[in-house]
Amino acid sequence: MDARRSLPSVEKILQTDTLKTLSQVYGRRLTVFATRQILDEARRVIAQSSVVLSESEIVRSVEEQLIALTTPSLVPVINASGVILHTNLGRAPLSRDAMEAAFTIACAYSNLEYDLEKGKRGSRLIHAEKHLCQLTGAEAALVVNNNAAAVLLSLAALAQRRFVVIARSQLVEIGGGFRIPDVMRQSGARLLEVGTTNRVNLEDYRSALDQKPALFLVAHRSNFKLIGFTEEPSLMEIAEQAHEAGIQLMVDLGSGALLDTAVYGLAHEPTVFEVLQQGADLVCFSGDKLLGGPQAGIIVGKKDLIEKLRRHPLARAVRADKIALAALSATLMHYLKDKAIEKVPIWHMISLGLDDIRHRAQRWRDQLGELGLNSDVIESVSAVGGGSLPGECLPTYLLSINVKYPEKFLGNLRKNVPPIIARIEQNRVVFDPRTVFLEQEEQLIAGIVAQKGQIE
Ligand SMILES: *Cc1c(COP(=O)(O)O)cnc(C)c1O
Repeated sequence: MDARRSLPSVEKILQTDTLKTLSQVYGRRLTVFATRQILDEARRVIAQSSVVLSESEIVRSVEEQLIALTTPSLVPVINASGVILHTNLGRAPLSRDAMEAAFTIACAYSNLEYDLEKGKRGSRLIHAEKHLCQLTGAEAALVVNNNAAAVLLSLAALAQRRFVVIARSQLVEIGGGFRIPDVMRQSGARLLEVGTTNRVNLEDYRSALDQKPALFLVAHRSNFKLIGFTEEPSLMEIAEQAHEAGIQLMVDLGSGALLDTAVYGLAHEPTVFEVLQQGADLVCFSGDKLLGGPQAGIIVGKKDLIEKLRRHPLARAVRADKIALAALSATLMHYLKDKAIEKVPIWHMISLGLDDIRHRAQRWRDQLGELGLNSDVIESVSAVGGGSLPGECLPTYLLSINVKYPEKFLGNLRKNVPPIIARIEQNRVVFDPRTVFLEQEEQLIAGIVAQKGQIE
């Protein structure tokens, strides 16, 4: 007899008590789907090894399959890597206020595009604009989906079929496929490169004026450093040159810090305010890098330029959603009230005192020690990351553990619930308290303890 015949039918499995319950929890459609998948699998197993799964084994597999099918793939993780703006870990975590604002607006009707005073259609763009202007000194502001969209929209609206002048040393790729020359092509603007890979001067910019460009574009080198025999005019000089010729200066600032990073021992990242002061007419930056808010692209600058952007058809295609706008407004409020350092998580992490970090690492070490597990506290560095301040780091203390197989240990930590992201330094697994939230500490320790067989 064909062994496959000995398998129960889909109907028979569905009639078991367990499956009836599962069907109520997961819905009949998904339960049938999972049952078919498991029976198909069972038939393959029979064909390969003649092993016939029992009915109870099949039922158990169906349940596991249903859990697997309905577990979200996007889950929170514990970031013990010490990289504050980790591009692969969702960049900036929101402040509590920003999270609550997003939640409130997400679950209710709102005046997103409704003027409550006039009782008629309003604009979604007003909700963050006022705060942005106040914080950066700009005349006007526009919020779109992300900074890539901000750059695309700006170029499409201001330089369609016209030249945009950019230094060769700034033809950057940010990662994730964002390359300035490609974005420019997509926008319909024409690239006019000036200078060399390492040097550009004002004369280079001046000579480009023959082509009647629409814009000068300065792009921030977010993820690499140019060192050695280099030259670049100051932003103010480039702005003067542009304005003398009657054209505009656009700056893709990338990170868009509102606070001075130099206060915390880092290199000075130009702030949005400074870049506008130095003469930029339009500045684009991200909402979820050094601003520490939700994913968004923020454009600030001259009123007439922002107005052109708003009227462009692409503006609708790249507009920000209400949840992001709510979170962004709440984040900006922290800056307005001078509370960003304590309230915006990434700034809190940047500004953490070294003693605080050491005490936390020591506490982790002592907790593991009480369970008979060896670890040390060592000096090292954290990184800001996320396309800002390349090569810059902050002094930190790490919990360091000696394990048999560091890579395997990291892999097991990633399988923890919640997953733990650590790193390897000098062949030891290390954990940076700077990027671990206080409320995650218990789970972090439990996750490490769960791998105790591996700890030397
Ligand atoms: C990060 C970055 C971008 C892309 O911003 P997103 O918000 O990720 O779309 C563009 N330009 C520069 C210079 C950047 O650093």
